[in-house]
Amino acid sequence: MGNAYAPQIGDEVSTLDTPSMIVDLDLMEANIKKLMSKLLPLGVNIRPHLKTTKSGILAQKLVAAGAKGGCVAKLSEAEAIIAASGFDDLLITCEIIGPVKVRRLVELFRKHKSIRTVVDSEVGASAINDALADSGIEEPINVLIDLDVGLHRTGVKPGEPALALAQHVAGLKHLKLIGVQGYEGHLQHLHDRAEREKECRASMKTLTETAEAFRKADHDIQVVTTGGTGTAEFCATVPGVTEVQPGSFIFMDTDYRNAVGTFYSNSLTILATVLSRQGPRAVTIDTGLKSLTTDSGLAECKDARYQYGVLGDEHGSLTWEHDGPGLEVGDRVEMIPSHIDPTINLFDVYYAYRKGVIEEIWSVDSRGKVQ
Ligand code: PLP
Ligand code: MN
Repeated sequence: MGNAYAPQIGDEVSTLDTPSMIVDLDLMEANIKKLMSKLLPLGVNIRPHLKTTKSGILAQKLVAAGAKGGCVAKLSEAEAIIAASGFDDLLITCEIIGPVKVRRLVELFRKHKSIRTVVDSEVGASAINDALADSGIEEPINVLIDLDVGLHRTGVKPGEPALALAQHVAGLKHLKLIGVQGYEGHLQHLHDRAEREKECRASMKTLTETAEAFRKADHDIQVVTTGGTGTAEFCATVPGVTEVQPGSFIFMDTDYRNAVGTFYSNSLTILATVLSRQGPRAVTIDTGLKSLTTDSGLAECKDARYQYGVLGDEHGSLTWEHDGPGLEVGDRVEMIPSHIDPTINLFDVYYAYRKGVIEEIWSVDSRGKVQ
């Protein structure tokens, strides 16, 4: 028989077991519309980062709204999203290093020639080239040079090192150098908007000047890709930037809301249940570390009168100051995640609703795909 609990389209959200990840479709669609109407008129391509949604269906919805392709961080995310949905217009934004991954990349590329990836070292680029040479595949894979524009996470340094790497890649028969990626992740959450814009423009100068230097050295650079939710609006206005990669805007989180404001709204929450009363102004709910991440601070209750605290893997507290009736055992609350990407990684499915009724159920295709 198994478990008879199987939420269906048409069910009321209020009938869901908890914790459950729920999406307000009206708000999500408004976020997508806002991004598209702000950025598309600037003439830039939008390749949303799917590290946020981890969903092929959502990738397709974004494309239907105007996006061109998607990004994934890891090779295994690309594999999972393609397997689930067939969506394969993907840029893998992390370096692919090590013989196992390189082999997997080659096998994925054999069937999906639209896959593109980044390199930031000669050894990394040569390994992919050599594996492709051994594979019998004739077409070269499209690659971008990953450039360090200030994040100091990955990326070759601008100037001579970048030019030398471009020269090396150009000499590899099975790699086709099509562009440059320069992700300024250290700026996404800068609270001061003027400072975020100023720093972003400095990073974009490094990025676009590098692209120009590559062109001068006879490399055919078509793609200059960058940006996230906190900076895409600035990147998109910079001549020479062809593509932006925002991810979190679709759902937002408290960390992003605190940094960039409420232009996009929190469209995803974690539905929770009060399990226990722990005093006149305190209850315990069924969301702890297994359903809400804490790397970017604590989640917030949508009803701002209640403050959240972590009580362990499965439990959290809600406390309040006001007099009169508070929360009781069995009550439902919605929690707003503090960092959306790793929170989604904790759930198998999204329940997407409109006006309280479940309209769609999506799987988190690349959940746990860390390789
Ligand atoms: N591009 C790259 C390379 C990233 O690593 C990220 C996020 O970490 C993004 C784009 C998207 O950023 P966000 O979710 O902040 O919009
Ligand atoms: Mn993130």
